[in-house]
Amino acid sequence: MIRTYKYRLRPNRAQTAALDSLFCQARRLYNAALEQRITAYQESGEGIRYPAQWVHFRDQRNKCPEEYGLLNASSVQQLLRRLDKAFAAFFRRVKAGETPGFPRYKGDHRFKSVEYRYGDGCKLREKDNGQKRFYLQHVGEIKLIFHRPIPERAVIKHVVVKRVNDKWYLCLMLELPDQEQKPQQKGSPIEIGPIGIDMGLRSLLATSEGELIDNPRWLRGSLSRLRVAQRRVSRRKQGSNRRRKAVRQVARLHEQIANQRHDYWHKLTRELAERHALIAIEDLNLKFLNTNRHLALSSHDAGLGMFTQMLAYKVEETGCRLVVVNPARTSQRCSRCGERVEKRLSVRVHDCPECGLVLDRDVNAARNVLASAFSSLGRSDQDLTWAAAPSVS
Ligand SMILES: [Zn+2]
Repeated sequence: MIRTYKYRLRPNRAQTAALDSLFCQARRLYNAALEQRITAYQESGEGIRYPAQWVHFRDQRNKCPEEYGLLNASSVQQLLRRLDKAFAAFFRRVKAGETPGFPRYKGDHRFKSVEYRYGDGCKLREKDNGQKRFYLQHVGEIKLIFHRPIPERAVIKHVVVKRVNDKWYLCLMLELPDQEQKPQQKGSPIEIGPIGIDMGLRSLLATSEGELIDNPRWLRGSLSRLRVAQRRVSRRKQGSNRRRKAVRQVARLHEQIANQRHDYWHKLTRELAERHALIAIEDLNLKFLNTNRHLALSSHDAGLGMFTQMLAYKVEETGCRLVVVNPARTSQRCSRCGERVEKRLSVRVHDCPECGLVLDRDVNAARNVLASAFSSLGRSDQDLTWAAAPSVS
């Protein structure tokens, strides 16, 4: 399995300047390659692909080191491949009858990363005192905050150097051998069987065990700070220095919130994957297909997709089982008697006239999600105890 480990880089002033020039050259090359594709097409009606571009820009790099001299072969290759992918995606979407945007020239703020093959002009080094440094050709040995060790037997494949709001990051793509996955300890005390999760509309998640999980208060605090900062931007005069300053503040808050959210979801998904033998969730693509679009966008932005993704790879590591079910009618059905209880989105409580079950609507939905998972696995509700038994792996 492939994993990305991200570290903060702390370049000194000279290294920062070198990184900036490196990014400048990379951006120039990317834009030149894009231009080459466009002109080739205009002149001959034929496209130009990666192999031809690589030959061209390899020679360009040797001929004019002042233009591209800071880049090495592998980073040039990665840039050209990135462009190749952008075009492939563009044509695929055209073919599918969509109206995609044409690959665009990148301005300074749109150009965020440069990639390398590990070992080619870049390497992690260890100093005598055990401290790690990231060596990058033409930049030097950069300090980094090595907050998590790289697992033994992991192979570093690719390296991405990133610039976000004037901060620098190192992303290492690692290949971990599959046997590194730890199967869940049988009968371990923390394991508490299967759980169903409803991605609620009000609270973030509801579980079949009755737990409602929301964004933590500090995250909500950051969100309201963001709103204040956004208002500040709109009050200030366009083109003014004060406005520019306020815009930077908004960008920093966005980044901070993204980090906080990421961190929170990582911990939440890890905990869920470690504690449960089986997790049932809804297929998000289906879930929001027919709901109110504005509602779906406002409360769910990118968050839930990220949640599913993170959960999917956490379960791979813990040996928990993830079952994705069709969300149809999970919110309307009674989780005890199966009666259909219609309710509008504004109604928070499931109140079954048939069997008298009164429950938070999202918790009721979460129980239905779990039941769907079991029926899709070919087990009835009576077998719930089977899966709850600690002997399940
Ligand atoms: Zn009922």
